[in-house]
Amino acid sequence: MEKLRKDGLEAIQACTNLSELGNVRNEYLSKKGLVSQLMLQMKDLPAEEKPAFGSKVNELKQSLENAFKLKEQELEDLKLNEQLKLGKIDITLPSSLPRVGTLHPLTVVQTEIEQFFIGMGYLVEEGPEVELDYYNFERANIPQNHPARDMQDTFYINMEWLLRTHTTAIQTRTLEAYKGEVPIKVICPGKVYRKDDDDATHSHQFVQMEGLVVGERISMSDLKGTLEKLAKHMFGDARVIRFRPSYFQFTEPSVEVDVSCHICNGKGCPTCKHTGWIEILGAGMVHPNVLRMAGFDPEKVSGFAFGLGVERVALLKYGIDDIRQFYTNDLRFLSTFRRFE
Ligand SMILES: [Zn+2]
Repeated sequence: MEKLRKDGLEAIQACTNLSELGNVRNEYLSKKGLVSQLMLQMKDLPAEEKPAFGSKVNELKQSLENAFKLKEQELEDLKLNEQLKLGKIDITLPSSLPRVGTLHPLTVVQTEIEQFFIGMGYLVEEGPEVELDYYNFERANIPQNHPARDMQDTFYINMEWLLRTHTTAIQTRTLEAYKGEVPIKVICPGKVYRKDDDDATHSHQFVQMEGLVVGERISMSDLKGTLEKLAKHMFGDARVIRFRPSYFQFTEPSVEVDVSCHICNGKGCPTCKHTGWIEILGAGMVHPNVLRMAGFDPEKVSGFAFGLGVERVALLKYGIDDIRQFYTNDLRFLSTFRRFE
């Protein structure tokens, strides 16, 4: 009996998988197994020895059962661990990243300027790129005989319709929509078109951003304060601006606006053509004719307007030297701009 126990326990320990263990179990504990055969020997024993023999065999059977259970658990754990090892994913392996696009530099600059003005309570207005001559010229105080209306400068679709030449067309539409009500505080971004031969500094299509404020007692100093804030926002806190007299049909008086050079801090460099100043905007007080045509009383309300080229700001801000870079869509160029706002 003791030999059977010892052999049995050794056989159980020697098993390396569940199928081997099953075989050993059959050999010892099945109906015709070694333990059952041992029990059969009981009938040959004298009656007084039978109970002791029976209980010893039962105890042997129990200890083998326990050993089987322990071994079975051990082998099941082993099997599970091996399966886990086989199915392990190596997360350190470099994966192939999907290509993610970047924002176009003009979008970046346009959004930056828009956010600046939205922060000061302006609304963003848009309008059609195919525009009526009426809103593009007539209501902007540019009469029939003005050279800007020349066929050489403007893409006319017919006598009445054209591709807008400036976002002033959005301003004239906005003025009309307000029906004499003030205050108006809007910026008007959008694509505009001119008949121009493309080169490093000219393009037949570009993005303008104009602003318009109309209300009671709006003065030139409001305009100057607003534009100085804009210059500091776009080119750094050290920037200052200056006004030079100019002429536009839409405004009176009109000014060209220079910003102190952000590259040389005003000392003079090739970017500012050694003047220390960079021309960046056109602006002025809204012409009384423009206000009157849109149903406002220029004796009671006044306003300022300004316009800038988004390409020009982007060229200066990023040190780009050719405006054509913005629309030739060279991915090597475009992917250098930041991905997210
Ligand atoms: Zn400079």
